[in-house]
Amino acid sequence: MSAAPANFYDHTRAELLALASRWGFPPVHAARLWSYVYLEGIEDWAAMSDLPARFRAKAEGELAFGRHATAAETPSSDGFTRKYLLELTDGRRIETVLMRYTGRVTACISSQAGCAMGCVFCATGQMGFVRHLTPGEIVAQAMHVDAVLRTTAAPDEAPAPALADSTHASPHARHERLRNIVLMGMGEPLHNYDAVMKAIDILRDPTGLALGAKKITLSTVGVVPGILRLAAEQRPFHLAVSLHGATQEERAALVPVAKKWPLDELMDACRTYIAKQQRRIFYEWTLIEGKNDTPESAHAVGRLLQGQLAQVNLIPLNPTAGYDGAPTGRDAAKKFQAILADYGLPSTIRQRRGIDIAAGCGQLAVAKK
Ligand code: SAH
Ligand code: SF4
Repeated sequence: MSAAPANFYDHTRAELLALASRWGFPPVHAARLWSYVYLEGIEDWAAMSDLPARFRAKAEGELAFGRHATAAETPSSDGFTRKYLLELTDGRRIETVLMRYTGRVTACISSQAGCAMGCVFCATGQMGFVRHLTPGEIVAQAMHVDAVLRTTAAPDEAPAPALADSTHASPHARHERLRNIVLMGMGEPLHNYDAVMKAIDILRDPTGLALGAKKITLSTVGVVPGILRLAAEQRPFHLAVSLHGATQEERAALVPVAKKWPLDELMDACRTYIAKQQRRIFYEWTLIEGKNDTPESAHAVGRLLQGQLAQVNLIPLNPTAGYDGAPTGRDAAKKFQAILADYGLPSTIRQRRGIDIAAGCGQLAVAKK
């Protein structure tokens, strides 16, 4: 019995070229296959007319495009967010979110089905760990969003009225490509380090989707060995670290893995990262009313991060079934921000989007099969 076809999206370009040469074909065919998929969005073997039939037949037998079936698609009433429930080949489900704000399109991508870290206010944490995603399953989420963008006109680019001189006007609306990704969907990316790094390498390939390193943000709960590895390997994308508590005790009550990687060890790792990479860290702080949003908490954050090359992203709590805290209101959030500014710390208050469809930060969860 022959083995199941491998997932095309698990391969780097170099691996694809090596594969083709093992099959006895010149690298040029594999390179053309790569560009069909990543530059033209074509996955239909019959449409790859530049490729010799023998190569196509071999590739079709050996490789499958492991694209996820869409089990559900939910647009948010805010018009800026769209959530996709995607089905993996083993029937497990994950969520991917397309966000359009501040003039750019960003895909929020999952790195695992479920999550083992158990943060109390996070729906993914509440569902527990199901399994790691493969590199191809991570890449395919980006390709899913890219395909959506290719086939739909941007909302602010509704068909223009006919121009007097329309001879050079394209009959088609201009389509966007995916340019930004955040690894802030389901799962803890540094708990699935190798697969996530390979997926990022594939998405960054300059002859493929060519995502810029500065357009990629990875968010971690604070997996210390992973942060040190990112620093040692000089990975060039942005890093966000979920903080939520400025003392060990406060943080451990919200983020249980703080017991494994205590706050002082996390801060040491972050300082190492900043020094090695010469790049700031974004700290995420979920604002929970009466819990970690008081002026005392803000001063504690200020003291903890003062002098670091850091920016704080404040995220008013999004509702989840398993946690009954309330989000901080606008005024208290502004006050928190003003205190951070006194310590020289820039911060932003995350816009609340997609809450009605549970596509906001920490709301992603699916029924465990
Ligand atoms: N596992 C990674 C990335 C996914 S979560 C991490 O924890 O960093 C992305 C961000 O959403 C994290 O900062 C997380 O703490 C935050 N978050 C989780 N649940 C939330 C909720 N209910 N409301 C607001 N933010 C939440
Ligand atoms: Fe996992 Fe991040 Fe949710 Fe914590 S906040 S449970 S690390 S996905």
